[in-house]
Amino acid sequence: MKVDTGRQFIGRFAKGSDLLSSLTELCGVEQIRLGVFTVIGAVTRACMGYYDQAGQQYVDCVNLEKKLEITCCTGNISLKDGKPFVHAHITLADLSGQACGGHLMPGTVIFAAEYYIRELCGAELQRRHDPQTGLSLW
Ligand code: ZN
Repeated sequence: MKVDTGRQFIGRFAKGSDLLSSLTELCGVEQIRLGVFTVIGAVTRACMGYYDQAGQQYVDCVNLEKKLEITCCTGNISLKDGKPFVHAHITLADLSGQACGGHLMPGTVIFAAEYYIRELCGAELQRRHDPQTGLSLW
């Protein structure tokens, strides 16, 4: 569907905050109902999910208790149960340059995080349960 660019936001989230919560809170405060974003920076620990397509649930949560670079965190904002909902994926790199990634989960703690959010207008996407995948999809 066609959408138009709305407001844009740039800034950084507080050190020690949860990355997913920070994104969700900002979207709530600014009432961003549809959008896309990127975040770069670093974290002091990370939690990522992997979706088991056969079992239709997030399994094998990857918990990394180490300092990592956010080489890329990207995602979208839409509505779930009428409220702004953030779907984010993240790729992180360690001291040796090794990267890992997954679905961003609560428990990823910010060392530094610079965000850019672009609101999109002219459409509304609601997440609803999709029986084929078990996910909440548009
Ligand atoms: Zn995901």
